[in-house]
Amino acid sequence: MLKSKRLTSKRGITLPKDLCEYVGLSGGEAVDITAQSDGSVIIRKHTPVCRFCGDRSSAQTYHGIDICPSCADKLRNEVIK
Ligand SMILES: [Zn+2]
Repeated sequence: MLKSKRLTSKRGITLPKDLCEYVGLSGGEAVDITAQSDGSVIIRKHTPVCRFCGDRSSAQTYHGIDICPSCADKLRNEVIK
């Protein structure tokens, strides 16, 4: 699905409703925006990324902080001595 849109004067964009429904995005949902070296911009559903090591496969959000089980263990060991 290809759609053409013009950015607002403040570089904002509203994603077309049918495109959002096609990929399962809802209003108010968090997204990740990635700039590519070829000039492409990719917008996809937000996935938690561990704040400490960058892991994307198992990170979860806890009180607003994305953290993976491995770093959570290390953090636990630092906090509980
Ligand atoms: Zn981690």
